Amino acid sequence: MITTASIVVAGVFGAMIGSFLNVCIYRLPLRRSIVWPGSACGWCGHLLAWFENVPVVSYLILRGRCRACRAAISLRYPLVELLTAAMFAGAWWYYGPSALLVSRLLFGCALIVLFAIDLEHHLLPNVITLPGIFVGFAFSLITEPGWMASLAGILAGGGVLWGVAEAYYLIRHEEGLGMGDVKMLAMIGAFVGWKLMLITLMMASFAGSIVGIMLIVSKRGGMKYALPFGTFLALGAALAATIGPGVLDWYLGFYR
Ligand SMILES: [Zn+2]
Repeated sequence: MITTASIVVAGVFGAMIGSFLNVCIYRLPLRRSIVWPGSACGWCGHLLAWFENVPVVSYLILRGRCRACRAAISLRYPLVELLTAAMFAGAWWYYGPSALLVSRLLFGCALIVLFAIDLEHHLLPNVITLPGIFVGFAFSLITEPGWMASLAGILAGGGVLWGVAEAYYLIRHEEGLGMGDVKMLAMIGAFVGWKLMLITLMMASFAGSIVGIMLIVSKRGGMKYALPFGTFLALGAALAATIGPGVLDWYLGFYR
């Protein structure tokens, strides 16, 4: 029985995890430790006191500015905390206490970090994607999608994009897709299996094309403008993991 109080607790816990994800998003691209030292202002180095480090609340009380130097704090901090809080509350309500809950939350946290880092740095750190492949596969031994679907997801996800990346390189003689995207799709396949991995790829490619066309039409970036494909993969995977099974049933329904 999932009580309202327990959903609130899950949300608060999620906000705290979101605070940690912010640290990962900020420090991983800089190759800095995510456990030491404590959080500080990115501008003046002012070390945050505990009351300046409360998820969402501190941002509101400080009105989005550092207490020492008044530099603006990125809106990304409260947004990531709110998103993670909503994800934890929603997943707890939907999955209840189960191995699938833990698997989906770890997957969701990885997606949030990859989404934000790729958007800002065009980078998908190996320290997230590679362990992600193993963790996703390990969970598949005891819960959805099952180890065979997971293994097929890893091989197909990594293989398909690797092929696309190689073909693009052969034709255009430049890198269109990075190996980070390849490893990320393998990770997605590990967590959700090959079917939902394909749905992820379709949705990410579709969304990427729409945004790409809009950029070209608005002349804000030429054909050369590299879109952060990992950001679209993260969106696609989040959708696939939640509404994907329904989409799959609906689609396959045409062929019954
Ligand atoms: Zn400051």
